[in-house]
This record gives sequence, C-alpha cells and structure tokens, in this order.
Amino acid sequence: MRLRNITGSREYIAQNPFVIHDIDKHKGSFARDIFGNEAPVRIEIGMGKGRFIHTLAEMNADINYVGIEKYSSVLLRAIQKQEENELLNLKFIRMDAEYICDVFDKGEVDRIYLNFSDPWPKDRHAKRRLPSGAFLERYHRILKSGGIVEFKTDNRALFDFALEELKDSDFDLMECTFDLHSDASMMEDNIMTEYEERFSSAGNPICKYIIVNRQG
Ligand code: SAM
Repeated sequence: MRLRNITGSREYIAQNPFVIHDIDKHKGSFARDIFGNEAPVRIEIGMGKGRFIHTLAEMNADINYVGIEKYSSVLLRAIQKQEENELLNLKFIRMDAEYICDVFDKGEVDRIYLNFSDPWPKDRHAKRRLPSGAFLERYHRILKSGGIVEFKTDNRALFDFALEELKDSDFDLMECTFDLHSDASMMEDNIMTEYEERFSSAGNPICKYIIVNRQG
C-alpha cells in the first residue's frame, strides 16, 4: 500500500493532540503558545516518518522541535512513534512548506533541517525544491540572524543545484561535504534518517551542507 493513501489518516490527524491544527494562530508567540516556554524552535521540513526529529527531540529536551510533512499518511507514521514514546518537546504540522511564513514570524526559528528532499527533476518544478532560492528566501524570513539550515541528500544533481542557489541568497556556506559518511568531523553528531539508511547502504555517497542566515 502506498503510504500517501492510507484510509482515515486525514481524520486521525485532525483530532491528534501531537499535531498543531490552528497553524496560523501562533505566529510571533509560537514557542510560548505551543510548548509553554521560550526555548529555541527547530524544524524539519519534509520529515517523512519522523525518525530523525524524534531522535533529536529525545536527545535535547531543552529544545522545541516541529516536524513538518505534506502528506497525512506519512505523518501518521511519525505520530505513531510519538504515541509509543511521548516527547513533550515534539509537535507536528501537516502542511505544504510553501506557506511556512504564515506559521512563523521573523526570527522565530533557530534551525531548519532538510533531509533527502524530493528532487523535482523537471526544470519547470525547480521552485518546489526545498533548497531552491524561493524556499531560501522563506527560510531567511523565519530564521533568526545566525540561524542555520542543514541539508542532506544522496542526489548529486539536487545538491549541485542547492549550492548554486546559495549565490544569490542571504546565506553563507559554513560546511560542505560530498561524502558525509567519510567525513569524521561532520559525522560526529549525525543522525541517520530513514532515506539516508536506505541510500547509504546501497553505496550512495551522502552530500551535506550547513548554511548560516545573514543579518537582516
Ligand atoms: N526526511 C525523510 C528522510 O530523510 O527519511 C523523508 C524524505 S522523503 C524523500 C521527502 C518527504 O518530504 C516526503 O515525505 C514528502 O511528502 C515531504 N515533502 C516534500 N515536499 C514538501 C513540502 N513542500 N512541504 C512539506 N513536506 C514536503
């Protein structure tokens, strides 16, 4: 069965306490409203089944995490993980990240993770790619100054595109590798995602960059 088509997933999510429903009502007071604190907010866009963000949230109780996923049936898997091992510092949003600026105010996000984002190989779909210039502009608006985007992929064409898109952006490249799993220092705090496990065990090198948001 394709994950995107699990019957009833939309209804299940609509009533789930781990999911933020009124997503445009907390802009400007997100951490306080949702988590009841002022701790940093870190988000993963295109979270999939959520292993990565669940692990991060488990390791860092003093940071607020939000997993964002477009499809209900995929999000359902992340919710199931949260139901087995409830973490107070982890919530989910079902949305297309195109509208991310409706959810977070300027500087409200501390860090953004993009893991194995869909490549959208056709040129006419380039703006849908999560590390595209169009998305970088949105990330610039919601990240604090000095905030970070971390991007991992095994798709070299997408990674080359992502590096090219940095040239006209408000971000500076801080770290970059074309073979993450052979880079001891960048691997130090690496958390494998579901896709990373699949592609690296097939022998694909994993590319990663870390970029920093400029002031403004
Ligand atoms: N990050 C996970 C991993 O590394 O295992 C999943 C990678 S999967 C290839 C990409 C995920 O991003 C899919 O679950 C897809 O639905 C989601 N996605 C793609 N575009 C999105 C968007 N614009 N907004 C939110 N989620 C998106």
